[in-house]
Order: sequence, then C-alpha cells, then structure tokens
Amino acid sequence: MRVQRLPTRLINQIAAGEVVERPASVVKELLENSLDAGASHIEVDVEQGGMRLLRVRDDGCGIHKDDLALALSRHATSKILTLEDLEQVTTLGFRGEALPSISSVSRLELSSRIAQENSGWRIHGDGRELHTEPEPAAHPIGTTVEVRDLFFNTPARRKFLRTEKTEFTHIEEVVRRIALSHFAAGVSLRHNQRSVYTLRPAHDERERAQRVASVCGQAFLDNALCVDFEATGLRLWGWIALPAFSRSQTDLQFFYVNGRTVRDKLVSHAVRQAYHDVLYHGRHPAFVLYLEMPSGQVDVNAHPAKHEVRFREGRLVHDFLFRALHSALAQVSPGSAPLTETLLPGAHAQLPAVTPQSVFANARPAFTTQHIMPLQVREQMAAYAALHPSSPQATPVDPSVSPSEHPLGYALAQLHGIFILAQNSQGLVLVDMHAAHERITYERLKSAFDSDGIQAQPLLVPLTVAVSVSEASAAEQHNALFVDLGFEIGRIGPETLVVRQIPVLLRDADVASLVRDVLSDIRAHGSSTRIREHLNSVLSTLACHTSVRANHRLTLLEMNALLRDMERTERSGQCNHGRPTWVQFSLDALDKLFMRGE
Ligand code: ADP
Ligand code: MG
Repeated sequence: MRVQRLPTRLINQIAAGEVVERPASVVKELLENSLDAGASHIEVDVEQGGMRLLRVRDDGCGIHKDDLALALSRHATSKILTLEDLEQVTTLGFRGEALPSISSVSRLELSSRIAQENSGWRIHGDGRELHTEPEPAAHPIGTTVEVRDLFFNTPARRKFLRTEKTEFTHIEEVVRRIALSHFAAGVSLRHNQRSVYTLRPAHDERERAQRVASVCGQAFLDNALCVDFEATGLRLWGWIALPAFSRSQTDLQFFYVNGRTVRDKLVSHAVRQAYHDVLYHGRHPAFVLYLEMPSGQVDVNAHPAKHEVRFREGRLVHDFLFRALHSALAQVSPGSAPLTETLLPGAHAQLPAVTPQSVFANARPAFTTQHIMPLQVREQMAAYAALHPSSPQATPVDPSVSPSEHPLGYALAQLHGIFILAQNSQGLVLVDMHAAHERITYERLKSAFDSDGIQAQPLLVPLTVAVSVSEASAAEQHNALFVDLGFEIGRIGPETLVVRQIPVLLRDADVASLVRDVLSDIRAHGSSTRIREHLNSVLSTLACHTSVRANHRLTLLEMNALLRDMERTERSGQCNHGRPTWVQFSLDALDKLFMRGE
C-alpha cells in the first residue's frame, strides 16, 4: 500500500476521538467557548441525553461573518498566535479543534452576530474543509451552536453511548463544574424542555455562596469553612467541608486552576494528605477550591481535552496546597467552626471564615488563643506584641474578651455515661466524651512522639524487598527520609533493598509494602508522608484504647478539664475518624424546638 494524505473530514473524525467522547464533552467544549467569548448568560438545551440535540446559546462577543467557516476548520483559533501565547494561555480554549471535531461527527449549525452588525449569520458544518457561504439568520449579539444526532456517521462511537439518563448525568456534571468555575456568568440547563438549573450571575460573596449551595447542596455549605490563603504568588480560596461531612464518593470535589477545572494527581494527593489525619479510612473530603497562579507557571497544553495541567513547580504547589488545607483543618477546634445545629429543624449554622494571615505563620488559631489563655499569659503576650509589632508570633489580644469565656463553657452533667452537657454563652454544648478524649490523647501522643524522637528496633532477620531499578535508586537518593523516621534501608542489588531497622511502633506493619508504597509516592510526587501516616494510624489506635470509655463516671472537675483540653487541642472538633466531637445548640435553636415566640 502507498502512503496517502487523509481527507480533512477523516482527520477531524480521528481528532474527535480524543476530544468528543460523549455528549457531555461537546457541552464542555461549547460552554468553554461561550466563557472565552465573555458571555454573561449561557443557555444549554438538551434533548434525549444530548444524543438528539445539544444547543448552547450565549450573549458573548459573537463571531465575524467572514470567520464563521474558519471557526469550523481545524487549527483555526482567535485565542493564540505565537508560542509565547501558548505559554501564557488565559483562555479555556486554544487548540482550535473543538468545532471542526464536533462538526465532523454530528450535524452542526453555527449562528452568530457581532455587535457591529445588525443581523446574524449562519453556517452548517460537516467536518469538510470547504464550507458553503454563510446565510443570513435572525440572531441577537452572541452565538448559538446546535449539535444534532451526535455520532450519526460514526456507528462505532455511537455504540458506546449509554442510556439517555446516564448521558444526561454526565452533562449535568459538566455544567455543575463549569458553573462553579465562572461565577459571573449565568447558566441555565434544560433537559427535554424541563428546567434543571437556573443559576444567576454571582458577583459578591453571598451570591457566590448561593451558587455553591445550588450546585453542591445547602448541607455542604452549612458544613464548610471558607478558606483564603496566599503565599509565594499562589492563592488558594474556596470552601472545604469539615471532616465530619465526608463522603463515600469523590463526587463533591471541585478543583480549579486559573478558572479551569482539572483533575490532577498532585492536587488530589496534597488534599488527601491534608485531610488524612481527620478522615476515616475510605471516606472522601468535599471541597470547592480555586488555585490562582501566574499563567506562565502552569502548562495547560498537557491533555487534548484539557483535563490535566502540568505545574512548572510541582513540589511548591503540592507543599502550598497541603500546608494551606492542613492548617485550615487544624483550626477546627472549639471556637472556630462547630458543626452546629444542622440537626435542628429550620436552623442554619453560621460558620465564620478561617482566614489566617499566612499559611506559614503559626498554625495556632488566634481565636482560640484569645479565649483560653489565662489572663497573665495574655498580658505577657500583649506586652510582647507591643514590643515586636512585626513579629509573626505577635498574637492579637483583645482585652475586652474575658478569660472566663470558654468557647465550650462549663460542664453541667454527664448523660448516660456517654455525653457531657455543658453551658456556654450561646446555649447548650453536647460533647461525645470518648471521641473528644480520643482526639486529645492522639494529638498528645503525636507531639510526644515528635519531641521524644523515634524509637527504632533492629530486625533480627533483615527483610529484603524486591523493587525496580528506579525505585532502588529513589531509595538511595531519599535515604534521609527513611532514616529520619527510624528506618535503616540499604541497597544490596540493582533491584533489591534490605531493611535492617524499623520504628518500634511499626513492628506489626507490612513493612515491605509500606516501603514500596513510599517509593512509588516519591517517584510520583517527589516526597512521601506514608510512613508518617502509618505511624499516626498506630498512634490513633493506641489513643482509642487508652481513652475514657463510655460509662466511665467523670466528676464535674474532670469534665471541665476535658473541655479545656479540647479547646487547647488542634483538630479537636472531630474525633480521629472524622466524626464530630461536640455540637452546639444555641438558645435560639432551642426556642425554635419548643416553638417559643411564634
Ligand atoms: P478554540 O476554542 O480552541 O479556539 P474552537 O474550535 O472551540 O477552538 O473554536 C474556534 C474559534 O471559534 C474560537 O477560537 C473562537 O474564535 C470561535 N468561537 C467558537 N465558539 C464561540 C463562541 N461561543 N463565541 C465566540 N466565538 C466563538
Ligand atoms: Mg474551544
């Protein structure tokens, strides 16, 4: 056979294989085009799961009549011109292949009008190079793309489509993701003429929160902390759910890099690591997060459908994300953001924003410090702050706050040997005794472990571990990481490691797989916290066994001591498994329960 040039339409159909997997991918590309066009209202109409019709209409800048045919041809774009542009992409699209790809596997109609013209124009696409002349069409300023009968001419692809319901679920997911990426654009979605979403443009904090609630549910918002961190040119803001609001699926995880929705291993690893200590195994955190960074720091041209990005400074980003989220979660102790009253009818929790000055400053929440420090200490700190106004340690001290106002108040009684009832200025506090004590013990064990150093124990029979050549070199290169945690590891062959010593705490662990997992982390992320996590889980089990059990009688004095300990302890808002350790019932909520004042 001789070499031949493929016809344009076939080239586009091949490209469509990468970009257009199903109706939802068409919706994604069209929505991105509308956002790039600066639209403030976008309507998405879907019929039969998008297999019969997909229509996206926007009020963006429109397309010039003479560019309509070009927009449907391959490698034609208005978004980049040079290689430098490619390295600084600020638009969602830039590859110039969505419209030609889509039009080669469907019946596509593109109508548009720009502000300078009094009427619109329409063109049909079929994936070929030559297009008919545009014909006049009534159209307001903006663009409409209609895609009918997706994959009508590629039966092999059509076979992979699922039911109408499944395909629509995917479309809905795309619309939700994009709706959370650009708050300023109003988005509506209809399926078979029925309205599914109508999201108005959101311009201020309240409206943005409202959109998050419409997309992720009110319960998510009620149980989320607002975060906003900035350091070394990176900013991370958004909402993260309290660990107690974890999920069995990863369905409430929205992450955006410069307004682009991405799924990224480095990102999920950093997030997982930040939550690991407060989340029960197998549960997934919920979050809506926005990472903003200079566009030159991130390569968006890493995936045809642009699902993935590549960070130029991957480690820096990983570290920043981890630290930001970890410190936000560490602050979930009494006095910051309780899991309040969502159990009560009609009451919604008001969660304060956690906005530390800097991620890298002292992780101790200023709020808690103000409330629990004895007066004498607070006075000393105030004096220190006055002398060292720029010191990061200078904790603001508000003299109007009395030291007697403990966030968790004072114990009144013990209920069935399980709960502590306490009274604070807002109302009633209920504490799960065992859960709270377990968390405190765990945090203590961790800090004792950190300050006393690691007890290591030589293995009677050294353990050989078979690994790959590159893993073995990684083990040599990162030997310090193992040594720091009490391991002694050597290389005794190109593909063989030997473990001679391990931390005492890990004597019952499966050391070989731990070592292998650590090495694969190192190769993927340049670092690993797996050993630390493993040690922590052992400490956590220890904590569970040494903490007060149910039916253990406590005196009022002991109960109050526990409350004070909780206030002092990081992450004490939830137990080691991510369940809440305490709940606040405000007087208001109690009044509502009894329908007082109605
Ligand atoms: P890309 O988005 O990568 O540039 P596309 O094939 O998606 O490639 O679109 C090609 C071009 O058509 C875009 O660069 C843009 O100029 C124009 N275009 C597509 N959709 C719209 C729209 N909704 N509004 C305005 N212009 C559009
Ligand atoms: Mg595009």
